[in-house]
Amino acid sequence: MTDDSRPGRPAPVRSAPVLVPMPAERPYTYQVPDGMDVAPGSIVRVPLGPREVAGIVWDSATDPVDPKKLKPISEVFDCPPIDQETRRFVDWIASYTLSAPGMVARMLLRAPAAFDPEPWTEGLRRTDAVPDRMTSARARVLETADDGLAWTRSGLAHAAGVSSTVVDGLRDQGVFETVMIPPRPVVAVPDTGYARSELSADQQAVADALRAAVDNGGPGVTLIDGVTGSGKTEVYFEAVAAALDRNRQALILLPEIALTHAFLERFQDRFGAKPAEWHSDLPPRMRERVWRQVAEGSVRVVAGARSALFLPFQELGLIVVDEEHDPAYKQEDRVPYNARDMAVVRGHIGGFPVVLASATPSIESRVNADQGRYARAVLSARFAEASLPDLRTIDLRRAPPARGGFLSPALLTEMRNTLARQEQSLLFLNRRGYAPLTLCRVCGHRFQCPDCSSWLVEHRFRGQLVCHHCGHHEKRPDACPECGTFDHLVACGPGVERVAEEVVGHFPDARTIVLSSDLLGGVKRLRLELEAIANGEADIVIGTQLVAKGHNFPNMTLVGIVDADLGLANGDPRAAERTFQLLSQVTGRAGRTGKKSLGLLQTYQPDHPVMRAIVSGDAEAFYQREIAERERAGLPPFGRLAGIIVSAATRAEAEGHAWALRRAAPAAADIQVLGPAEAPIALLAGRHRFRLLVHGERRSDMQGFIRALLAAGPKVRGSVRVSVDIDPQSF
Ligand code: ADP
Ligand code: ZN
Repeated sequence: MTDDSRPGRPAPVRSAPVLVPMPAERPYTYQVPDGMDVAPGSIVRVPLGPREVAGIVWDSATDPVDPKKLKPISEVFDCPPIDQETRRFVDWIASYTLSAPGMVARMLLRAPAAFDPEPWTEGLRRTDAVPDRMTSARARVLETADDGLAWTRSGLAHAAGVSSTVVDGLRDQGVFETVMIPPRPVVAVPDTGYARSELSADQQAVADALRAAVDNGGPGVTLIDGVTGSGKTEVYFEAVAAALDRNRQALILLPEIALTHAFLERFQDRFGAKPAEWHSDLPPRMRERVWRQVAEGSVRVVAGARSALFLPFQELGLIVVDEEHDPAYKQEDRVPYNARDMAVVRGHIGGFPVVLASATPSIESRVNADQGRYARAVLSARFAEASLPDLRTIDLRRAPPARGGFLSPALLTEMRNTLARQEQSLLFLNRRGYAPLTLCRVCGHRFQCPDCSSWLVEHRFRGQLVCHHCGHHEKRPDACPECGTFDHLVACGPGVERVAEEVVGHFPDARTIVLSSDLLGGVKRLRLELEAIANGEADIVIGTQLVAKGHNFPNMTLVGIVDADLGLANGDPRAAERTFQLLSQVTGRAGRTGKKSLGLLQTYQPDHPVMRAIVSGDAEAFYQREIAERERAGLPPFGRLAGIIVSAATRAEAEGHAWALRRAAPAAADIQVLGPAEAPIALLAGRHRFRLLVHGERRSDMQGFIRALLAAGPKVRGSVRVSVDIDPQSF
């Protein structure tokens, strides 16, 4: 803010930099009208072209503007300012991801109605006056309101079981006075002493270390590496308690928060109150209230999806990233960032500890721990009587399924045994729909997405062919569109719907549930299904990776992996890591209680290191091998990668621009540019895509290099778009 009031000059123009939620590289300068108070962090309404938008008063300088041309700030919202740590965090992410700071700020401003204070509601409170005559209805009202608290008119009537006019009558006689009731908190305040669990010695040691980290303050990352069911959650709850005891707010990130209803209840069992939820399925009104109450500090703990990192915390003192290896933490569009990594940065800026938890840590986090950058806490045993399932492979080369089926005799036998014991089975196949490919048996025609380079997936329940990349869908025809032959279209390969069909054929009397993210009814329906499974209302569950995460099905004693090789098939160097993590997680669904349990992996490559690691339980061998492999190839975390995706309406435009960028690459000894090559999805939603891969060393200045490359390259014109993805998920 400038305020130069030298004497003898005309009245000075006060101005302020305001970051607006647009692809703006810098804040814009606005005039601060007389009598208006703004400070860095203030949320303001400003004119922008023909519209008005909410923006944040920023710290940094702006481009010089003629003071006479400045437009005034319209309004300062009556809202706690965005704190300095959060502002630095925004600048840091913008610079790291090569995104416009305005686009990062946009993620902070996603609950516009929250900038105005929540309204107070009108309520009624008992006075000393007595009614002129008593009826039984009136007596009930007085009895109900005897607590001396303020009630809403309808709330009181409802609680007393009378009509609102009875309440009105009493008010008119002065028996109740009108008072204003402040907004209700979205959640109660957690009580750190509510129900502390007795921890095992191992758990206690980790909990003590975490509590010390929180109490001593200062940044630092702890990786809790513990098998599923070892009590990681139990232990990091103690870190949350420590943060709350020090009057700080805490954030718990979860990859599938909308589905982990059980988590909220578990938190409530420990702290006597639920955490506030934050994710994209939250109703808008609730989003606004949570946003506001986080800013005001009445919400102390948030359990949220990755976007919860951009809530306006004022006193954040701990972030927990549960299932830290989960790919859902990576945001791919607009500002591509990995929430796990950004949580670590946020902790660093805020000077507070960060806890990462996983049964199968990412290679990145494991190496960070091995090299001493993170502390590592290991929980090696399941809590109490729960034991890990017995794991075996089924070699499909030797014992294949019957013709047209996907379940081997060995798996079917175990399913039958499990049914006989009245226990539950889970069949896992990470593929939605009925079949991944449909073709014509007469002419060989394959159904392909018109806008993407991908096959259409048949969804038989819906009677449609669907593109899993862009959502394109069409009715499944009866005749081949190429040769016109009727009734000769065949489904190739399995999806969960097809496996369900096979299961019903074998076990017509079993209660079978299919769980996948495209179920009609959305998140609500999924939650109900998950509850039903946990309550034992299903015998056989067939699911995609949705079922892998965090659910506790006490009666599930058999897990069958229909196609353990599926994730290994693509050429991605991360494929082994991902498959290992996913399969470990899914098989971990079995044996959550004392019952004996079994995990069976159907595979054509039982000798693959991933299968061996899972079956032998020797995760360490897998990690050592995978880490050595990455180091040898200079792949993350030993080297650095970034993708530059060039997309355009035509293939020629995209390819031409990508090559021009390649030629513009500055010379650097430690950084190479590979490609351009067709992107992993070469055609997406009608746009052709090419990718340059930038490969550097651990300490290379990737951002500086890419900035220079983009500046030296041709101007982006026509339909061309260029986007940068630092630390891409697949490479
Ligand atoms: P993880 O997060 O490692 O999968 P959890 O914290 O979910 O493990 O614990 C697994 C199960 O064991 C849960 O049902 C939890 O309530 C129970 N549990 C773990 N530790 C304890 C403990 N110290 N006291 C009581 N129950 C525990
Ligand atoms: Zn498509």
